[in-house]
Amino acid sequence: VGRRVRRRMGWRRVLRVVEELEEVCATPVDRLRQVVDAMAVEMHAGLASEGGSKLKMLLTYVHDLPTGNEKGTFYALHLGGTNFRVLRVQLGGQRSAIIGHDVDRQPIPEPLMTSTSEELFDFIASSLKVFVGKGDDVSELSKMGKRELGFTFSFPVKQISFSSGLLIKWTKGFAIEDTVGRDVSQCLQQALSRKELDIQVTALINDTVGTLAVGHYHDEDTLVAVIIGTGTNACYLERADAIIKCQGLLTTSRDMVVNVEWGNFWSSHLPRTSYDVDLDAESPNPNDQGFEKMISGMYLGDIVRRVILRMSQELDVFGPGPSKLHVPFILRTPLMAAMHEDESPDLREVARVLKDVLEIPDVPLNIRKLIVKVCDVVTCRAARLAAAGIVGILKKIGRDGSGGVASGKARPKPGRKIKIKRTVVAIEGGLYTNYTLFRVYLNEAMAQILGEDVAPYVIIKVTEDGSGIGAALLAASHSASSVVDTV
Ligand code: BGC
Ligand code: MG
Repeated sequence: VGRRVRRRMGWRRVLRVVEELEEVCATPVDRLRQVVDAMAVEMHAGLASEGGSKLKMLLTYVHDLPTGNEKGTFYALHLGGTNFRVLRVQLGGQRSAIIGHDVDRQPIPEPLMTSTSEELFDFIASSLKVFVGKGDDVSELSKMGKRELGFTFSFPVKQISFSSGLLIKWTKGFAIEDTVGRDVSQCLQQALSRKELDIQVTALINDTVGTLAVGHYHDEDTLVAVIIGTGTNACYLERADAIIKCQGLLTTSRDMVVNVEWGNFWSSHLPRTSYDVDLDAESPNPNDQGFEKMISGMYLGDIVRRVILRMSQELDVFGPGPSKLHVPFILRTPLMAAMHEDESPDLREVARVLKDVLEIPDVPLNIRKLIVKVCDVVTCRAARLAAAGIVGILKKIGRDGSGGVASGKARPKPGRKIKIKRTVVAIEGGLYTNYTLFRVYLNEAMAQILGEDVAPYVIIKVTEDGSGIGAALLAASHSASSVVDTV
């Protein structure tokens, strides 16, 4: 009898854990609108002065997005969060678009993420060398003179110019002290010469900027780009006179792409749980990238792991034996997605992940259902916050239908005729493209925040390999040697 009573009380406490999570993670539209406003306000502050906000609002020196007239063969390297890509992109000029591109994709060996600068860049250069060797057009290329390369480096960089910049900090689990503060473009260039590769790094860009470039190449209404993968971030095209912190700094005042680095966004309106607090404290970069830690693929699985661990402390159905629940990052986000999207009536996939990955066999069905609920709550919050971030940017550039942040006007009444321009948001990253429910929740939240009058004018478009191809496109459009056709 004692055991049964204990069970019942334990079950009630487990339920409470999940209910509490749900309450704290709730993101009703009003709350999302507060996040929208906070994002727009922080963007203003970050543009007003250096260090004016947690949002770095980094200058990119990209003034002109590709037009479609770029021509020639260009290389691109993309160092992201989980994968590393090498690309060769052939551009045909005169709107004949991208003729073709080859990609070589591989996971970044984990030890390299915490090794030395030289080891990391040597690995990158070697991969490029193998890739270049594989191409059948090597002799062709050498006839064309110096080869050029666009480098997509998916971390915060203080650009010195369009083709160079200093690493501000690592994110997404990378921690190589001696790279911080160095010119990553030069690090790559030096590694290329160590490998005797005669290739010039002519563009250094953030992955969001690559996505924007490709998005804009295909559709000129693309003004914003967002990445939601291992990490998360956004960039957008800003008016010259709005970038107050660099007035007088630029020779010509022209519009420029700004890298928001929204992963580091913070606001008291964000629904933060004790799990988020613990995750942050135990991460390699505490007190940093708060928004990213609630949204991106590197972290969602680990938030869920922490909740399941908490549940297991309330009820003994998780078994007395040692489980893997204490191991940080063992529950990777794709596994979480697989549990979340398990459609079998007896939740077989959930049982499999619990048993094979976390080493907890025989979890009863009612608990498995609660675990699906936990995944749902965590992903729903992430997707809705990302949506609020996007609308925050739209608001900053006056594309959210509210008439811009400065006016402070209320939203137009439903049914009232408003004039609004079509705006495309280019998006990339595994969380959005591979996790269906995440995508559904994000789109749903966008529609709710924008309202039915405005939502149809905001189009979210997935670009493929844009973060890599974009680097080649930008290298081409900034290349002195490339033949740029004039229409
Ligand atoms: C980095 C950004 C990057 C984003 C997506 C973040 O951790 O700080 O620079 O764009 O991840 O890859
Ligand atoms: Mg330029």
